[in-house]
This record gives sequence, structure tokens and C-alpha cells, in this order.
Amino acid sequence: MQTIKVKTSSRTDMKEITSEVSSVVKASKLEEGACLVFVAHTTAGITINENADPSVREDVASTLERMVPWAGPYRHAEGNSAAHIKASLVGQSTIVPIKSAHLMLGTWQGIFLCEFDGPRERLVHVVLLRA
Ligand code: ZN
Repeated sequence: MQTIKVKTSSRTDMKEITSEVSSVVKASKLEEGACLVFVAHTTAGITINENADPSVREDVASTLERMVPWAGPYRHAEGNSAAHIKASLVGQSTIVPIKSAHLMLGTWQGIFLCEFDGPRERLVHVVLLRA
């Protein structure tokens, strides 16, 4: 397992981490298996989506914002309930197949850390699973 540190730059940030995850996979020389990518926080998520047109990640972030507005009403005293809810909607992990130490992502797919309460430094654990 390897841990990647990711610095986010705003409250909501869709930060692509494909190349960082890919480096871990390449270094492993794993022939066949899968890669689990897990963010160890309650106000951030991990997703796979299009990395070609940046408008896609903006649309995802703005739609989540409309679905779960920052201003409540919420009960959680820390004041960041929207971030917790978005993190649950997106989920904390994803899994990508590996072949010849290569992530089997589709042409337009990228792995994103979804920041919902930044800017912060986030820890992402990359676990390699042998087939
Ligand atoms: Zn909180």
C-alpha cells in the first residue's frame, strides 16, 4: 500500500490524481490485479469521470452543490454538513483493473479526489490487489 498526499485549493475541488495513482501501479510491476483508491476523510470522496473536458468536473461539482447547498438547515455543529453528505453520495473509494502494471481506464476516464471542505491536504491510500 502507498499513501498519496493531495493538496486541494478551494472548498470544492475536483482534483485529478490519475498520474499519481498510475505511478504507484507502474512501480509495483503488478501483472494482473486491481487497484483500490481510498480517501481517508469524511468530507472528501473519490470518483472516476471524464478528464478531457474540464467542464464535466465543474458540472459535477455545481450539480452536487445544487443538490446539497452549503447553507442548511443542518444540525451538525461544525457547520460542514453539506461536505459530509456529498462525501457519502460520491463514496470514499474506487477500484480500477490493472494489466501489465497499467491502469485499465477508458480513454476519457480519470480518477478524481473530490474535495468538499477544502482547501486541505488529503491522504489517499492506494492498495494493489493481485489477481
Ligand atoms: Zn463536520
